[in-house]
Amino acid sequence: MFTIKYQILTHMMTFTSINGMILVCHASSSSVCRSAEGQLCAGYKTAFGNTLKAHKDGDLQKLLGEGSKAYDYDLIVIGGGSGGLACSKEAAALGKKVMVLDYVVPTPKGTTWGLGGTCVNVGCIPKKLMHQTALLGTAMEDARKFGWEFSDQVTHNWETMRTAVNNYIGSLNWGYRVSLRDKNVNYVNAYAEFVEPHKIKATNKRGKEMFYTAAKFVLATGERPRYLGIPGDKEYCITSDDLFSLPYCPGKTLVVGASYVALECGGFLAGLGLDVTVMVRSILLRGFDQDMANRAGDCMETHGVKFLRKFVPTKVGACVLISNAAVSLQVLIAVGRDACTGKIGLDKAGVKVNAKNGKIPVNDEEQTSVPHIYAIGDILEGKWELTPVAIQAGKLLARRLFAGASLKCDYVNVPTTVFTPMEYGSCGYPEEKAVEIYGQQNLEIYHSLFWPLEFTVAGRDNNRCYAKIICNKLDNERVIGFHYLGPNAGEVTQGFGAAMKCGITKDQLDNTIGIHPTCAEIFTAMEVTKSSGGDITQSGC
Ligand code: FAD
Ligand code: NDP
Repeated sequence: MFTIKYQILTHMMTFTSINGMILVCHASSSSVCRSAEGQLCAGYKTAFGNTLKAHKDGDLQKLLGEGSKAYDYDLIVIGGGSGGLACSKEAAALGKKVMVLDYVVPTPKGTTWGLGGTCVNVGCIPKKLMHQTALLGTAMEDARKFGWEFSDQVTHNWETMRTAVNNYIGSLNWGYRVSLRDKNVNYVNAYAEFVEPHKIKATNKRGKEMFYTAAKFVLATGERPRYLGIPGDKEYCITSDDLFSLPYCPGKTLVVGASYVALECGGFLAGLGLDVTVMVRSILLRGFDQDMANRAGDCMETHGVKFLRKFVPTKVGACVLISNAAVSLQVLIAVGRDACTGKIGLDKAGVKVNAKNGKIPVNDEEQTSVPHIYAIGDILEGKWELTPVAIQAGKLLARRLFAGASLKCDYVNVPTTVFTPMEYGSCGYPEEKAVEIYGQQNLEIYHSLFWPLEFTVAGRDNNRCYAKIICNKLDNERVIGFHYLGPNAGEVTQGFGAAMKCGITKDQLDNTIGIHPTCAEIFTAMEVTKSSGGDITQSGC
């Protein structure tokens, strides 16, 4: 039980808390008093409330000198990926005693990797480098048109690419270890699970168990690829967790799934010259603007990707049965990812999890249902699954916990890019969502096709690139949706994402002078509204 006795000293109040320890708070004597009716005054109530909260959060024990004795660490972070590393380093930089645990459970094929989480090892980094490999292939074709002469026989070597990419990843893994050491974060390569609300068990790869306690915890365990749950899937199929370090070129590939991972991987594999088919259950890029998603899909077809629509696999063997024909190919499953929350003892800590999807609901301060346990990154319910989001949330959380800061992670207007052969960048609402929220009559949509100058001499992708902004007529034509299909979409979208954070309007875009000749300048000169049905093809610059 937690009891507080108090006595008034001159210009001080002392609280005697549990264990008979005395906490001396510097406060004016007037803040502790009773009214004539014996009611506690507001100052006391606030102090009492704060004290209770501090006890619940573990802060009171620390003030009382129990913290360092009671717990091994101020903060333990479970998961050394984008969010976990950012949070642990920030907390340590603020002078806290911090441990981060990271452990990679091997895939069914036995693939494993080093420190840094999904993005570095099996996500953004290898994906973007392999996308770049594919773009270079296209650039070589373009180069001939620009006068470069080289042998007709151009081939790609998977092993060379894989080794180069994985060597770079190795250097990043090493860099993370060094920076944790430099910042005095204790890194432990072990699997963590709660055994009590303030205590975890850490099991290393040799099976050795260790126990650690902390005042606060941050969960940042990320996600792993989902399997199909059909016969042969784990035996014969690979996922993105295996692809980037695959020791052999996958050759003819069937990609199952139609979102970010499926389209990006299918796109770069086709760009390497492989025969790629994407099996689509329903639509492309669920949740994205469908007009844009279909345009990105059309460009993929132009770049050699085949689509098998309205199909799902039911069984996988050494050969795959497609339309009654047995085909031997590599199957890459990309049907979503499951949050790594099922085996970390959350029931022992009392943390509530959405039983349907394993995601963790948090309040706007990333606090779970247990006050001293927080969660960030991909495991959060209803939040973006993107590296910069996990990093931002982790950093700001550490500052709020340990530096008295109040800034929260802003999950609105997060810019993102899908690195398909023709890249698609977006920020804000898809058209469908904007119509649902604001009503068609309150929106003005400006759009245009365009032909990047670089593509003109190369003679490709004429009028395939497309730009669209969705503006709210009720709010000065503020831009609430930004969509760009074209080269360097990430670079373009990043800047407009900043502009949208500042609340840019159509007028302000029109008053922005473009940079010529670029693709991004299209947004400074958009005149045709979708509702007008006007011609949006471009004939030159
Ligand atoms: P993670 O980075 O996944 O880190 C979690 C870590 O915790 C992992 O190392 C895991 O092994 C470890 N762990 C799990 N359980 C335990 C445990 N019990 N004990 C100890 N350690 C544990 N995002 C972008 O912004 N841009 C992109 O271009 C992009 N491309 C992607 C491409 C692919 C193929 C994939 C799969 C994802 C991509 N993402 C991209 C998403 C991005 O990788 C994630 O949003 C990001 O990594 C999430 O960070 P996190 O900290 O939540 O988790
Ligand atoms: P998603 O959950 O976004 O998509 C899953 C896809 O698999 C959907 O197309 C879905 O189809 C399909 N699918 C699901 N179950 C089946 C099934 N049984 N049979 C056939 N198809 C199925 O997952 P991703 O793995 O693509 O992406 C996860 C997250 O990772 C993304 O939300 C993104 O935030 C992040 N990411 C970011 C990237 C970036 O920033 N460039 C790149 C890659 C990932 P349906 O629509 O019918 O449900």
